[in-house]
Amino acid sequence: MIAEGGKPDKRARSDFGAARGIAIGNLLPYGSEARSARKKLARISYEAAYPGIRLSPSSRNWWARLKGTAPECIHLREDVSWMAALLPDTLYLRGKRAQRRDSPRPEVSVCHACLVQTIAEELAAFPGRVVAFEPDAEIFTQYFFVATEDFDAVGLAPETAAAIGKRLKQSGETCSECSNQAKWLWFSRAEVESLDEVEKIGGSSGEWLCPKHGAKKLLASFEAIPEANIFYMNLPYGDAGAYVWI
Ligand SMILES: [Zn+2]
Ligand SMILES: [Zn+2]
Repeated sequence: MIAEGGKPDKRARSDFGAARGIAIGNLLPYGSEARSARKKLARISYEAAYPGIRLSPSSRNWWARLKGTAPECIHLREDVSWMAALLPDTLYLRGKRAQRRDSPRPEVSVCHACLVQTIAEELAAFPGRVVAFEPDAEIFTQYFFVATEDFDAVGLAPETAAAIGKRLKQSGETCSECSNQAKWLWFSRAEVESLDEVEKIGGSSGEWLCPKHGAKKLLASFEAIPEANIFYMNLPYGDAGAYVWI
């Protein structure tokens, strides 16, 4: 579909459920089953879940509800060149939606500024261990956190899961920015290009960061991407895990 001005209509792409299918093997297909489950679980009001976001009224009218599309921030009415569907408390286990916190917040579509405003504080406050992979701006459509106990359930390859698990156990490192205790291990694309590079995940030095600077690094990697259409992003949960992209 082509929008005005000849650019691909990203909004149309994200509305189309089938386009949300995922690509790491059979990991997390996202279909109508997930959509109906989403309705049942959306118990918190949008205002309570996202106090800082101004939602577009037209994205909350009867037609939007009928289509089952998530409300979106007001800025996406003007510019959809950068958008992300945020489901902060949800993980997809081979297509089945699993809530990873009580009272999961509902899905919302946001522009880059609204995403940063919504997640920055919570990301930086996450006390657990994180291994995070810099996304490939050209091909990534989802960026989500998986706790170690869910590695198998989401379909991570056992070798990849083992390699990440080992790095998560590494301790005693300090933040390269501020010398506080490091909790994040960041892998740039130059170091680890994909989750298949098991040896590099195990052997690359990566960059050790405290939660504050880890969160900053992740947000900076989004900042560096001029255009994005992220179909699914969540926030960290559990004691330790990995931020992966597909
Ligand atoms: Zn916005
Ligand atoms: Zn730091």
